[in-house]
Amino acid sequence: MTVTTEAVIIGGGVMGASILYNLALRGVETPVLLERDTLGSGSTGRSSGAIRMHYSTEVNARLAWESLAIFKNFEEIVGGGDVGWVETGYMLFVPEDSIDGLRQNIAMQQSVGIATQIVSRQEAQELAPAFELGETEAFAWEPESGHGDPSGVALAYSTRARELGARVVLESPATSVEIDSGKVVAVTTATERYETPIAVVATGPWSSRFLADIGIELPLVATRHEVFLLRRPLDRVPFHPGGGDMSNLIYFRPEGSDLTLVGNGNREEEADPDAYNPRLTMDFVEDIWPRLAKRIPAIADAELFTGYAGLYTTTPDLHPIVDRVDGIEGLYICTGFSGHGFKLSPAVGIVMAELILDGESRTVDISTLRMSRFAEGDLNTTTYSFRVIA
Ligand SMILES: Cc1cc2nc3c(=O)[nH]c(=O)nc-3n(C[C@H](O)[C@H](O)[C@H](O)COP(=O)(O)OP(=O)(O)OC[C@H]3O[C@@H](n4cnc5c(N)ncnc54)[C@H](O)[C@@H]3O)c2cc1C
Repeated sequence: MTVTTEAVIIGGGVMGASILYNLALRGVETPVLLERDTLGSGSTGRSSGAIRMHYSTEVNARLAWESLAIFKNFEEIVGGGDVGWVETGYMLFVPEDSIDGLRQNIAMQQSVGIATQIVSRQEAQELAPAFELGETEAFAWEPESGHGDPSGVALAYSTRARELGARVVLESPATSVEIDSGKVVAVTTATERYETPIAVVATGPWSSRFLADIGIELPLVATRHEVFLLRRPLDRVPFHPGGGDMSNLIYFRPEGSDLTLVGNGNREEEADPDAYNPRLTMDFVEDIWPRLAKRIPAIADAELFTGYAGLYTTTPDLHPIVDRVDGIEGLYICTGFSGHGFKLSPAVGIVMAELILDGESRTVDISTLRMSRFAEGDLNTTTYSFRVIA
């Protein structure tokens, strides 16, 4: 069967759903989202949901800050259901040799308007009494950061998009994008042909393969990452803020009333999105739990609750690709968000809609996320780029 539509989004993670909503909101009629499986079945459904502002490049910091304003008032701004926003505050811990980098990053973030500051060891201890704080470390504090529910966000965006006229088609993998005379003309599935002038590839870990099939080679790699949750001894750690710990290369956050979720910043392995191990391994637990206990000593006496693995989609500079494809009118790419796409997703939907409908993004300058940067050798590198962390 053939369906005619103004735009097709391929992939129903937070990115695809946010783009779908923003296109529908901007008046695109009956945009269609095609999802291979169910909403959030890729990286989104396994995301830790941490929402923090600390970045070493302005583009990511701006996208995160724009997004935070939406997460905090999601029901009023977007609607569509509960997205699990919890404000916990977020502390960044930095070893001595990275303190100059921390200062540079914080200055940049403050120039963007982000609520963040360097705090003394004593102030950090008052904010988080359960933390062990090194004498030579430095600390930054984001009072407004927290976490949310990534699957809930994807669902809320798609619910609102459908109310605005969009269609969400599940269990329908796109099989190809038809291109004729340098223009997108259709997206096909096994059973349908969607005639459209606009196709957006937001296929997360499947992107490298999907794009290669339509002749676009990009350095996108799916990598496997584990996380687990511990039940805290509440008498000694009733609560703690979220944290990004550059000294121990872990990130963590509270979950619900008595759990702590932890993941890491230095263990990853390349994986096949159709055949990776989604389970927690004891090797990971034995490595990461003691690292967390260095920061929160009482957590050594916690109980292991559960854990799992999911996939990041990484690029060589750990920045995403958010761009139109030069030479193919109507084709757009939005992928490669590594371990930090959830927190950027509200703003990414807005800038993608601007790119598609206005020809350029106005809310945030996304030129450094262009796909040609790899061929040009113009990667997003900064003097002090913290390789962390969800
Ligand atoms: C363990 C883990 C922890 C993380 N923690 C955080 C965190 O704390 N904070 C944060 O900000 N980010 C975090 N992230 C990263 C974040 O989850 C991702 O960056 C984000 O979810 C990416 O969204 P996406 O829509 O690009 O991709 P995905 O969620 O993977 O969505 C892509 C979708 O495309 C679909 N698809 C693929 N091929 C096709 C096709 N041919 N046709 C139709 N559909 C197709 C897939 O089924 C999938 O649903 C984490 C990720 C993981 C794995």
